[in-house]
Amino acid sequence: MPATILDGNKIAAEIRAEVAAEAKALAEAGMRPGLAVVLVGHNPASEIYVRGKVKSCEEVGIYSEKHTPPETVTTADLLALVDDLNRRDEIDGILVQLPLPRQVDSKKVLLAVDPAKDVDGFHPMNVGFLSTQRPGLVPCTPGGIMEMLRRSNIAVAGQDAVVVGRSDIVGKPMAMLLLNANATVTVCHSKTRDLPGVCRRADILVAAIGRAGMITRDFVRSGATVIDVGMNKITDRTDFERYFKGNEKREQAFAKNGSTLVGDVHPEVAEIAGAITPVPGGVGPLTIAMLMSNTVRAAKLRRGATVSVG
Ligand code: NDP
Repeated sequence: MPATILDGNKIAAEIRAEVAAEAKALAEAGMRPGLAVVLVGHNPASEIYVRGKVKSCEEVGIYSEKHTPPETVTTADLLALVDDLNRRDEIDGILVQLPLPRQVDSKKVLLAVDPAKDVDGFHPMNVGFLSTQRPGLVPCTPGGIMEMLRRSNIAVAGQDAVVVGRSDIVGKPMAMLLLNANATVTVCHSKTRDLPGVCRRADILVAAIGRAGMITRDFVRSGATVIDVGMNKITDRTDFERYFKGNEKREQAFAKNGSTLVGDVHPEVAEIAGAITPVPGGVGPLTIAMLMSNTVRAAKLRRGATVSVG
């Protein structure tokens, strides 16, 4: 039986609708949530991400502002900007778009963000809150995956979960969230022995690697839930054939754009998984929806607000 497709666009739309209702209630109580985005220089990918985030704010009724220091900005300039945003009461969330230019001490800048406004959940204080199960702000991508599992009625407690990847942004917080939800969690990385064997133990397999189609059917137990975080652009015809041979819809898109996206999971896995996220349209849309959700959450936590919606 082919896998159930976990539709990230649909779940993201549900989350956005809930966030919009909460943002409205807060605004009516004189506390409209606000997000400040800091975008340094002209990295094309970063510009696209930031445009998406600002647009999403407009859609859900969150105030947003964009700060665009030049590529030549110094660490001191950015620290001054962050300090100003930390002090402003109408700003609930501060997002410093990464990567920052080489001359900037990124860690120092991220550390300067008020943990109460750290909507990316990268500040060590929020990392500590997550690992000790205290209320805080959780990184958007793994937070979105937990929402997807919950809203798709996929049981987590007592399940074997395997996370491939141990980045601070995805793998580690993902593992912590699954552990907090009572899964038995294994974290894998580039030095893991017998990766396919370890992955085959998983009831829930999360791939956050950054390698196109690496997780093939040999890594997956029949019926497992497979969450594909990877977003890899392919432009080469041979690569295309390896993943999408015979897929007409992809063929048309590839012919038109000269590229397509493939996850870290090989599309053949959909033939044996119980449920799987597509790429695109799986985990990606949830990340921005969770940023909106985190901004509203930051507003409520910081301003001590309780809003009742609906
Ligand atoms: P990183 O490069 O920071 O981490 C990759 C991880 O994968 C590392 O822990 C690395 O191990 C591990 N890894 C690499 N090669 C192998 C291998 N051959 N076998 C086992 N493990 C391996 O990436 P991110 O976590 O930031 O992102 C992962 C992917 O998710 C990327 O494709 C990225 O584009 C995508 N992404 C998607 C998002 C979305 O919204 N959909 C959001 C964020 C990321 P080691 O630590 O040993 O080096």
